[in-house]
Amino acid sequence: MKALRLMSWKSEPELVDVPEPEPGPGEVVIQVGAAGACHSDLHLMHDFDDGALPWAPPFTLGHENAGWVHALGAGVQGLEIGQPVAVVGAWGCGICAHCRDGLETYCERPDLAPVPGGGGGLGLDGGMAEYLLVPAARHVVPLPDGLDPVHAAPLTDAGLTPYHAVRRSQAKLGPTSTAVVIGVGGLGHLGIQVLRATTAARVIAVDPRESARDLAKDCGADLALAPGPDLAAEIREATGGVGADVVLDCVGSDETLAASAACARQLGDVTIVGIAGGTLPISFFSIPYEVSVQTTYWGNRAELVEVLDLGARGLLKPETTIYTLDDAAQAYADLAHGTVSGRAVVVPTDSFRP
Ligand code: NAD
Ligand code: ZN
Ligand code: ZN
Repeated sequence: MKALRLMSWKSEPELVDVPEPEPGPGEVVIQVGAAGACHSDLHLMHDFDDGALPWAPPFTLGHENAGWVHALGAGVQGLEIGQPVAVVGAWGCGICAHCRDGLETYCERPDLAPVPGGGGGLGLDGGMAEYLLVPAARHVVPLPDGLDPVHAAPLTDAGLTPYHAVRRSQAKLGPTSTAVVIGVGGLGHLGIQVLRATTAARVIAVDPRESARDLAKDCGADLALAPGPDLAAEIREATGGVGADVVLDCVGSDETLAASAACARQLGDVTIVGIAGGTLPISFFSIPYEVSVQTTYWGNRAELVEVLDLGARGLLKPETTIYTLDDAAQAYADLAHGTVSGRAVVVPTDSFRP
């Protein structure tokens, strides 16, 4: 089968032929219905060297996957061939306290995981291929009625990650609160919808692209601003001078982190979601009083079930730009050039492509 693989660090991925996976005991093979192209894959291609991560190429890209159960390994129960499913992306040990809670992103026994601190598309073969080997049935979540794999795939990361971040700040997102979403790409456009669907906060979106600001408005943002030296002042003005209760920085550069801290309200949250590699100096006076600065990484299995439910009910609607597997490398090139609207999604099966 064809697969888009990262062959080495600091390289562009290649479409190559690899053997179709066969499930061993307890494993599940998924026919890939859709695989989202995440900006993190661009970081993987360009920003890392040998030894920076606990795993290394070659592996097939694609950590945002949904499709249909294709083959079951010995002993797997409760799944049926042909059943539409989404894939939980982080594959931990399955037995430590965090894994037992479904929070396999923060596995505490990475030495017992299939790959330490990774998953499909992150050290192990991912979904930019016709088939995906999933090492345990617990990573496979049935799709609720009304949700197809093309719309489910982006929800497994671009939807789940901001959902987890919003949940973490839920107590600060009341009806008089304001949330700021910086970066209206794959994560940001769903982050705005998550805020709309699960809180009564007003939402201010920030993106340099006019098309992304238009998308933000379509997703329910009350205000969409372009970044620049006056951004924090504009956000303060739009919030009656007090600032934003919660900032989700889906870029994470020096510039956006500085703007996040400068526009935050006292007692607010600044959440670093984007991994552009920026830093934010923290001292007693460098951020408003009692602002919490936090990172978040992906989400847990229970939250994924909730996100898929919101998707099935039409409360989260991923905007997708669709590519064939042959054009998967182009999807990443377009993502790098900022020409993707919402999420770039690779759909390998001709008959299923919208
Ligand atoms: P994306 O490329 O789809 O979207 C990024 C958006 O940010 C684009 O719309 C771009 O125009 C905008 N942008 C660029 N510079 C900006 C600036 N200065 N101010 C405001 N907006 C700006 O990327 P994505 O897939 O949504 O990922 C976003 C970031 O989140 C990436 O760094 C990615 O690696 C990271 N990520 C983190 C997690 C996590 O668990 N923490 C999960 C997935 C992705
Ligand atoms: Zn991702
Ligand atoms: Zn674990």
